[in-house]
Amino acid sequence: MANEEITRPSNFIKQIVEEDLKTGKFEGRVHTRFPPEPNGYLHIGHAKSICLNFGLAAEYGGKTNLRMDDTNPEKVEDEYVKAIIEDVKWLGFDWQDRLFYASDYYDQLYDWAVKLIKKGKAFVCDLTGDQVREYRGSLTSPGKESPYRNRSIEENLDLFERMCKGEFPDGTKTLRAKIDMTSGNINMRDPVLYRILRSTHHRTGDKWCIYPMYDYAHGQSDSMEKITHSICTLEFEDHRPLYNWFLDELEIYHPQQIEFARLNLTYTVMSKRKLLQLVKEGLVSGWDDPRMPTICGMRRLGYTPEAIREFCDRIGVAKAASTVDIALLEHCVREHLNKITHRVMAVLRPLKLVITNYPKGQVEQLEAINNPEDESAGSRMIPFSSELFIEQDDFREDPPKKYFRLSPGAEVRLKNAYIIKCEEVVKDAVGKVIELRCSYDPETKSGSAGEGRKVKGTLHWVSAQHAIPAEVRLYDRLFRSENPDNVPEGQDWKSNLNPESLEVLTTALVEPALKDSKPGSRYQFMRTGYFSTDKESKEGRLVFNRTVGLRDTWAKIEQKEG
Ligand code: ATP
Ligand code: MG
Repeated sequence: MANEEITRPSNFIKQIVEEDLKTGKFEGRVHTRFPPEPNGYLHIGHAKSICLNFGLAAEYGGKTNLRMDDTNPEKVEDEYVKAIIEDVKWLGFDWQDRLFYASDYYDQLYDWAVKLIKKGKAFVCDLTGDQVREYRGSLTSPGKESPYRNRSIEENLDLFERMCKGEFPDGTKTLRAKIDMTSGNINMRDPVLYRILRSTHHRTGDKWCIYPMYDYAHGQSDSMEKITHSICTLEFEDHRPLYNWFLDELEIYHPQQIEFARLNLTYTVMSKRKLLQLVKEGLVSGWDDPRMPTICGMRRLGYTPEAIREFCDRIGVAKAASTVDIALLEHCVREHLNKITHRVMAVLRPLKLVITNYPKGQVEQLEAINNPEDESAGSRMIPFSSELFIEQDDFREDPPKKYFRLSPGAEVRLKNAYIIKCEEVVKDAVGKVIELRCSYDPETKSGSAGEGRKVKGTLHWVSAQHAIPAEVRLYDRLFRSENPDNVPEGQDWKSNLNPESLEVLTTALVEPALKDSKPGSRYQFMRTGYFSTDKESKEGRLVFNRTVGLRDTWAKIEQKEG
């Protein structure tokens, strides 16, 4: 297939890896990790990092670890751990037996902190949080040394041990690295390594009342796992000197940290804090609301792992931050669904249509091709009868020019069936069209000799007595503006939420083949979009989500630019 033949451009990270393989920097090993903090669900930005880390290892015959970065006991929850595992698996990646937790390393991290104290490179500080911040200085002014900085090694060892034993209240002491309060890099101004915090940890329970800070735990975790290339997002660039300082002072195995630009998408917020807010405030139905940019939201909406991986591949990896058009993601989804889904007929907003010259009570089975893109998908039979439903939108009493759908006196083809002609329009007391009365031409059956007769419009339909009622959920973007974070002063980012992002149609009708549709199934509803069966769908109450419409705005952009 054409797509697989495209050679993907290299990126600067691949070039680093290839250079390291050439020089034997890591004895020819490539070992990456994906280190999410289990304080929320994974989103499409994480997918980029997952694809990058697992993709690199796969390409160079290496390995990737999954590591739960659970250093902050207050935010970590088992629910998130489970969801992360499910999502990474669903995306199609395998960490084999290498699922790790930063909390597994607490003992080792403690011993290493003692080592730093013994080297005179760490001290116990009694400044309060506010004071630490104040002493730190700013980008334009140097910091001030803590008055506790010159405690003796013995005193530091004693105090640190007692911090760990729980002798001091929360927040009254910290262990800090002794580096340089005048450094131009604020991260190097005696950063905090440990804080006192009585909080039950999801794995270590109440064993610890001191917890390591992210910067202290992260590099050492990488080191313990013998990671070669520790890939992270750009905001950690300024932390790299500190990452290196710990490994050098501890004299332990040294992975290489490499930063890349995080993914931003138009019409999307990606901060976990904000996503959590949407969930907590009930602005969406949950983490897996199909409008959420989470992996589980996209899964529920009907996105495929293949499409997400393709998207991540196409956007590439760069050093400079940029924002990707969400239309590209939708394009990738459409492209894959076009290949794999069956074309079925569903009428979202039904309008009754009676064929007056078709024998009442007669039912005919007509053949329908499942997927013109895939011969192996075969065909199925669909029932046709004298009473049908078509889309309200497919009829205009007063049609504009070039309207090729149905209008009084006009002819259209009913997909897989016959050509019909609109003979009469039936209205209710207030003048609303409630029924169309049509004639059909028996010589024009699809697939027959008479099929050759051409009419411009083809409509989808369902047979009234055979159709299955369904609820259909149509989604629009969750935010109205391209950059939801960009709001005028004094306004909340949530003021950008699109009040019309969900439309529920409860009176849709689908063809009988969908009667036993299982959650997660995907279809193309002819002419209305790609749909997936929602997790709330069950026998007797079918529910479908519109995954994406048929109109490809990205293809248009590409055409214009190409
Ligand atoms: P948030 O700031 O929303 O909490 P985070 O970066 O803190 O996100 P983590 O769970 O720490 O979330 O992220 C795990 C990994 O995924 C990190 O290596 C991080 O760099 C990467 N990652 C997170 N968001 C993105 C993004 N938008 N694009 C690319 N990679 C990302
Ligand atoms: Mg993080």
